[in-house]
Amino acid sequence: GATIGILGGGQLGRMMALAGTAMGYRFITLDPTPGAPCGQVAPQIEASYSDEAAARNLALASDVITYEFENVDADVAALLEKESYVPQGSTLLYTTQHRLREKRAMESAGIPAAPYREITDLPSLIQAAEELGLPCVLKTATGGYDGKGQAVIRSSEELEAAYEELAASGRELVLEKFIAFQAEISVIAARSPKGEVKSFPVSENIHVDGILHLSIVPARVEESIQREARKLAEKLAESLNVAGLLAVEMFVTEDGGLYVNEVAPRPHNSGHYTMEACATSQFEQHVRAICNLPLGDITLLSPVVMVNVLGQHLEEVVKQAGVPDHALNEYGAVPKLHLYGKNESKTGRKMGHINLLCKDVQHALDWIEQTHIWRQG
Ligand code: ATP
Ligand code: MG
Ligand code: MG
Repeated sequence: GATIGILGGGQLGRMMALAGTAMGYRFITLDPTPGAPCGQVAPQIEASYSDEAAARNLALASDVITYEFENVDADVAALLEKESYVPQGSTLLYTTQHRLREKRAMESAGIPAAPYREITDLPSLIQAAEELGLPCVLKTATGGYDGKGQAVIRSSEELEAAYEELAASGRELVLEKFIAFQAEISVIAARSPKGEVKSFPVSENIHVDGILHLSIVPARVEESIQREARKLAEKLAESLNVAGLLAVEMFVTEDGGLYVNEVAPRPHNSGHYTMEACATSQFEQHVRAICNLPLGDITLLSPVVMVNVLGQHLEEVVKQAGVPDHALNEYGAVPKLHLYGKNESKTGRKMGHINLLCKDVQHALDWIEQTHIWRQG
């Protein structure tokens, strides 16, 4: 089988390598962290993402190169594109690693983003806040994840402090209108170089402190909105000329409208539910797409709730060996635990997740609510 090189060796690369190994592919990963999650299941080149010699070694060892992380150096991806085969391309990475470039790409595809303004200094922030109205969210244009690098501004007195805090990062800034959403949802679309497109069922996502806590499928959102969301994600995948996956995060407004929040050209935490709940997992689909194989069946086989296991939840989850108390059995729910093998557990760090296959998502939600595991932090 061919060898797939992965830029980034986190949990997404690990689960991609596990899925792709079952399909007969070999993997190699480039990641600076010793014993990275993916490095435990595939050979690892331990080097910085901007190390050109290491990138060349990855190219030499790989037939196809993919990325599992947007914050890899786009210049390195461009170099790899010259020396190897990078079906996703470096342009997609360049666009999606910067919120303003990403929003402009959405606009030219006719896809609505929440109203926003580019911020260059404090006066431009004050003016933008006046135009958009409060509350607003100030975000760094690059480098953010899990809600890091952003500040909600609820009154004009908070403008200066928010500016000082985020400008200190030295990154470009963007101000977004705060959307009073009825739900947050996401759609993972896959597109292959030959132009086949398929999207997975819509996931309803609940965040706590800016970090994904739950994905609920089927989403508790009107069918017509779900159809619209999938169409929108597929259209965006086509217009961005995606090869592989495109994860599209959206807000559903009170009146049923959709705004795209952000996109990621890779497997996504909100797609982990597909591992057991769909006929094809997002990781298999990504491998299929970048290898130009026919895309897999995206049928939902069971209702499912994915719950993230953060550092503060890990000890309890491990103690219960992922097969928690009888309340869950009473509901006939089946928990599937996935741990990422990270070397260090920290509060707020994603250490694993559980897919709770169930007859009714409310059962799984009731159980998560009543167990003590997710009450600590
Ligand atoms: P991720 O881990 O998904 O990459 P991130 O750090 O890139 O996160 P966002 O997805 O932009 O950040 O924001 C994190 C969360 O903050 C969103 O899922 C949403 O709950 C909330 N949020 C962000 N922007 C807005 C907005 N304009 N209006 C309302 N809520 C928002
Ligand atoms: Mg993000
Ligand atoms: Mg997000």
